[in-house]
Amino acid sequence: MARVLYLGGLGRSGTTLVERLLGELPSVCALGEIVHLWQRDILDDERCGCGARFSACTFWKRVGERAFGGWSTVDVARVHALRDAVERTRHIPRLAKPSPEVLEYASFYTRVYRAAAEVSGAQVIVDSSKHSALAHVLRWADDIDLRVVHVVRDARGVAYSWTKTVTRPETDGTDEMTRYSPGRSALLWNAHNAAFGLLARRGVAVHRVRYEEFLADPRSALRELASYAGVPVAEADLGFLGDGHADLSVGHSAAGNPMRFTVGRLPLRRDDTWTVALPRAQRRLVGAVCAPMLRAYGYPLNPVSQEAS
Ligand SMILES: [Zn+2]
Repeated sequence: MARVLYLGGLGRSGTTLVERLLGELPSVCALGEIVHLWQRDILDDERCGCGARFSACTFWKRVGERAFGGWSTVDVARVHALRDAVERTRHIPRLAKPSPEVLEYASFYTRVYRAAAEVSGAQVIVDSSKHSALAHVLRWADDIDLRVVHVVRDARGVAYSWTKTVTRPETDGTDEMTRYSPGRSALLWNAHNAAFGLLARRGVAVHRVRYEEFLADPRSALRELASYAGVPVAEADLGFLGDGHADLSVGHSAAGNPMRFTVGRLPLRRDDTWTVALPRAQRRLVGAVCAPMLRAYGYPLNPVSQEAS
């Protein structure tokens, strides 16, 4: 049975960073955002984290052969139809029970996880798909050991990040990542984070990580995550972590944030740009919309640093 660490949370919360660091641990294999594998990799042949086109990456070629007898045999239209039928945030209430469609949709993912575990020899597979609805689907897969990591970041930092223009390098600069207005991302922040709270109440193992705390002490945070994932970590295994940086090796992330292509030194700095760059009116709006959950997660509603700077 494959053990799967599912990284969830609203985009721009730091899931890619957490995934990259987890991927450096022995016996952990990080796959990127598998939710996008069907379209971006199988159909569009975008680049793997290793730099090769998906179809040319040896790791993914082997995974596809084991999981499906080759990627060309996967009925992507069927995967998309199933996704539209079951994997939407508004469908989460219905996901309290499994339907045949839910089980069929989950089976596409579990075949990838199991094949990746066999090909890599890893004890733990990481999927950083983030979507809360997919986590609610995967809980019904009885052939995986699902452990969810819920990554939370201050809603105002998330909102600021969503206003920025970021190109997607895997499309060779022709495409940009989605942008949201602060009001829109505030609503999404509430919905997605609440959905992970519900997942925990439905009996799924959910471990919450705050982005800001993770970066304050990445070494301890990683140890804690490894322990949650059930993999032993020796001091030498954390040798890739330096003072304020990590040294990353090549990974095979299938899709996600551009950071998946980073090889070599990655600065581990908390990005607090929002405290000076997010206009005050928008900061107040997001703070008001997200106040109950910001408070519940222990975020100060009026950080002093923002007023001082
Ligand atoms: Zn690759």
